[in-house]
Amino acid sequence: MSRFAYVNSGFLPHRDACVHIEDRGFQFGDAVYEVWGVRDGHLLDEQGHFDRLYRSLDQLDILFERSQYSLLVTIHELLRRNRIRNGLVYLQISRGVAPRDHAFPQANIAPTVVLTAKRFNFDAAAQRAEHGIRVITQDDERWDRCDIKSVNLLPNVLAKQAAREEGAYEAWLVDGSGLVTEGSSTTAWIVSRDGELITRPLDNHILPGITRKTVIAIAKSMSIPLVERAFSPEEAHSSREAFITSASSFVMPVVQIDDKIIANGTPGSLSLSLRNEYLRAQ
Ligand code: PLP
Repeated sequence: MSRFAYVNSGFLPHRDACVHIEDRGFQFGDAVYEVWGVRDGHLLDEQGHFDRLYRSLDQLDILFERSQYSLLVTIHELLRRNRIRNGLVYLQISRGVAPRDHAFPQANIAPTVVLTAKRFNFDAAAQRAEHGIRVITQDDERWDRCDIKSVNLLPNVLAKQAAREEGAYEAWLVDGSGLVTEGSSTTAWIVSRDGELITRPLDNHILPGITRKTVIAIAKSMSIPLVERAFSPEEAHSSREAFITSASSFVMPVVQIDDKIIANGTPGSLSLSLRNEYLRAQ
């Protein structure tokens, strides 16, 4: 079956879909993106991802006039054409195409919109969750506006590659004060010895994870004590549980951080019940 992508205003075979060489996303990383999980044809945390998308566009002064509704119609048409009911949708919006110059183009240019969709093996992810994953720690070498979901992901790419090379699933990034900011593409969490759920508070050093927001709401509804504060890798090493969250991982237990096994090396009960609750609530 052929795969379809969407570029600007039309659907194209995936292999033929392309953008201009002077697209500012390609030239400067002058673009933002979003990723939705899709289960049984529904976009997970649909509104949260749209809200963050429009905020990211606003923060970068990318003038994008298409409505959420119009994007949503296109996303569902893309899923239909690709016959995807369980998968991931990727949306990228760049400032558009203009002769290469660092400053914003003077003329009003149309943003470039790219949408792709792919199947995702949620069963394999569920199996991964049964065993838990390993993470390594890496220096956080990113810029000071990590709250914007921009496509400038080179430090994230290098950290994830370092994890892969060590046979780990994710890299947790550590700031200059020795505290974990977040994963290279996920939010980082621990459960303290006293059973408190801990994740870093939102500021410009981390992406405001949409799954994070939903998991916080779930934890509150389950009366689980929650503290939004930074933690160090050392505190994580001696925590009761650890896990990551993201649109594609949902809640994924962590059983090893660097060479330290967390608790007894199996997924923690709180992590697993938050995962179940997250999937049930969608
Ligand atoms: N942090 C970073 C750096 C990410 O790239 C992502 C997801 O792409 C997340 C956290 C998790 O965000 P979300 O839960 O919205 O997928």
